[in-house]
Amino acid sequence: SSIFASVEMAPRDPILGLTEAFNADTRATKVNLGVGVYYDDNGKIPLLAAVKAAEKARLETMPPRGYQPIEGLNAYNQAVQNLLFGAGSELLAAGRVITAEALGGTGALKIGADFLKRISPNAKVYISDPSWENHRALFESAGFVVENYPYYDAATRGVNFAGMKSFLEGLAAGSIIILHACCHNPTGADLSDAQWQEVVDVCKAKGLVPFLDMAYQGFADGIDADAVAVRAFSASGLQFFVSSSFSKSFSLYGERVGALSVVTASKEESARVLSQVKRVIRTNYSNPPTHGGAVVAAVLSTPELRQMWEDELAGMRDRIRAMRVALVDKLKAKGVAQDFSFVVKQRGMFSYTGLTSAQVDVLRNEFGIYAVGTGRICLAALNSKNIDAVVDAIAAVLK
Ligand code: PLP
Repeated sequence: SSIFASVEMAPRDPILGLTEAFNADTRATKVNLGVGVYYDDNGKIPLLAAVKAAEKARLETMPPRGYQPIEGLNAYNQAVQNLLFGAGSELLAAGRVITAEALGGTGALKIGADFLKRISPNAKVYISDPSWENHRALFESAGFVVENYPYYDAATRGVNFAGMKSFLEGLAAGSIIILHACCHNPTGADLSDAQWQEVVDVCKAKGLVPFLDMAYQGFADGIDADAVAVRAFSASGLQFFVSSSFSKSFSLYGERVGALSVVTASKEESARVLSQVKRVIRTNYSNPPTHGGAVVAAVLSTPELRQMWEDELAGMRDRIRAMRVALVDKLKAKGVAQDFSFVVKQRGMFSYTGLTSAQVDVLRNEFGIYAVGTGRICLAALNSKNIDAVVDAIAAVLK
């Protein structure tokens, strides 16, 4: 018999499953709010002008496609470090940060998880409740036991910070804490700057190992403002991990451009850590692809293109915020009694709307509006053409 005879069907990815159902829906008025992608006002994934210009320049030089170094392009890794830690960072000057190009933010998390498993095989990993659904799977597949820490407070639609803090205070030294650096996915609820400092202090006092996941830098308040968590940990003297991604901020989803950065205690330690991170990469996929990293590096290091990108990023950020404001205003104008003003306070692409899974079902079945069963919607999938239909449907469901 076949060696695959006993292979069971894996459970469907809930969000990709939603997209399949959406694609099969023949209603012209359908809207997919279940995605994790930024769409422009025409409902299209943008190709940024800065990216287009860098790609054109790259194409003209017809560069050969040799292997990259295991850790990727040096110019790219330096550009990543400057965005995350700030160009004047003392950590960077001291050689205390190593960065390796990775296959998106997901690839960075996976390299970090595999490396951590080698150095702390018995540590437990803690993720926010709720979290991006791949966090648990990634760290479990690296061999860790993964548990939740309290995070979202449905009553306030914000963060249960007291619960989170006291939980972290009770953890064993060496525990690995996955933190969303900004634009929490799926809730949109972020920590304040002062709360970040408290988390840093707890991690320091209890000897926890912070792993910051930065998938949306520039989508909340701006490039530096969104790096507040990275900067607070940088000032603490702690060792920590950062996974980062250009999928959203450069609209380069399919090119798989991300990075793993590790902050060490010294330059000498950095050399040892990098050598081990390179081993993890070498035995997984050897070295990263050339195109995405080269394009991002060119944009970030060419002043004119950099300015263009910063303007385009601000445009995406402002459009999402405008959709948040419009959604709240229009629901109110429709006579919806419930106060949705929390949607304007939430940050990044997502909002936990508080819609129940039964209400989400009605939205889909009766109105062709697709949201995640948890009530998560992607604000970046709203636009000036579909927002009224979405508002009408939500208002109808809430009546
Ligand atoms: N981390 C979080 C919190 C995310 O929301 C995402 C993407 O949705 C990622 C990581 C992965 O990003 P990438 O597509 O670059 O792998």
